[in-house]
Amino acid sequence: SGIGPADHLRDHGIAVRVDRAAVGANLQDHIDYVASFETPGTQFVGSSLKGTLAMAGGMIQWLRKRQGMMTTPFAEAGAFLKVMPDAPAPDVQLHFVVAALEDHGRTKVKGHGYSCHVCVLRPESHGTVRLTSTDPHQAPAIDPAFLTDPRDMAVMKAGVRAMYRILEQPPLTDHMGRDRHPVDLSDDAALEDLIRSRADTVYHPVGTARMGSDADAVCDPRLRVRGVEGLYVADASVMPKLVSGNTNAPSIMIGERCADFVTTDLR
Ligand SMILES: Cc1cc2nc3c(=O)[nH]c(=O)nc-3n(C[C@H](O)[C@H](O)[C@H](O)COP(=O)(O)OP(=O)(O)OC[C@H]3O[C@@H](n4cnc5c(N)ncnc54)[C@H](O)[C@@H]3O)c2cc1C
Repeated sequence: SGIGPADHLRDHGIAVRVDRAAVGANLQDHIDYVASFETPGTQFVGSSLKGTLAMAGGMIQWLRKRQGMMTTPFAEAGAFLKVMPDAPAPDVQLHFVVAALEDHGRTKVKGHGYSCHVCVLRPESHGTVRLTSTDPHQAPAIDPAFLTDPRDMAVMKAGVRAMYRILEQPPLTDHMGRDRHPVDLSDDAALEDLIRSRADTVYHPVGTARMGSDADAVCDPRLRVRGVEGLYVADASVMPKLVSGNTNAPSIMIGERCADFVTTDLR
């Protein structure tokens, strides 16, 4: 498009239309740690002969009556917790999942179990999205810069500890879950190593075309791209700060607002 940081565009031989450093900067995402447990029983979703038969039966029950185990949204429960004493609002979010998760589900876990996610709701670490080529089919270089700001690690450690306080209580302990990644929570360095080796996105990237009233913002508060007539951005990238929760509903709201702005501007 030629809209972006001029030097970066020129490096790729792209003619600069609007020099805007904020394009591709300010990437924010919810860094997330997943605790995962294997259970001896088959109550949770998982892979075993008994579990597969139960799920097949569950599918039939769902098709016939819209009832039973396959009505599960998988992430069955959640919580917002305030773990830092000075936080103005909950600073971590939990998602409880009725299956043992590894690497976003890409690594299959044999047997049954459950997992719990904890993510940092207002990360201070900011990353970038940059071009790798002028070919739009080539993947960009996405650097979320997770945990580069020490404040995020502090919140994450407190969040993991708070999550384990819940996981180590009945009725969850009744399921005798075996922690796939046990750690001594009182050992700060070990906990930090575990988080750095396992934490990853929970799929909420925003901010790389941020909206703002300042002249450096990519979009103005009516989502018009500054310096280009008739171009609007209507997606999660306009959020100047990541919302303290899931991003789908806010993205829908951004789309609705943008539709209103465009309709009004065209009148
Ligand atoms: C695995 C996963 C799970 C998630 N779970 C949740 C959840 O449980 N709750 C929640 O609130 N949020 C969730 N999110 C986040 C949520 O989906 C996003 O925040 C939201 O969809 C962002 O909306 P968007 O419009 O910015 O982008 P998208 O929804 O990604 O929309 C971008 C659209 O642009 C299209 N597109 C891309 N390139 C081109 C092109 N060159 N030409 C034309 N079209 C193009 C794409 O096909 C896509 O339809 C999840 C995200 C992922 C990836």
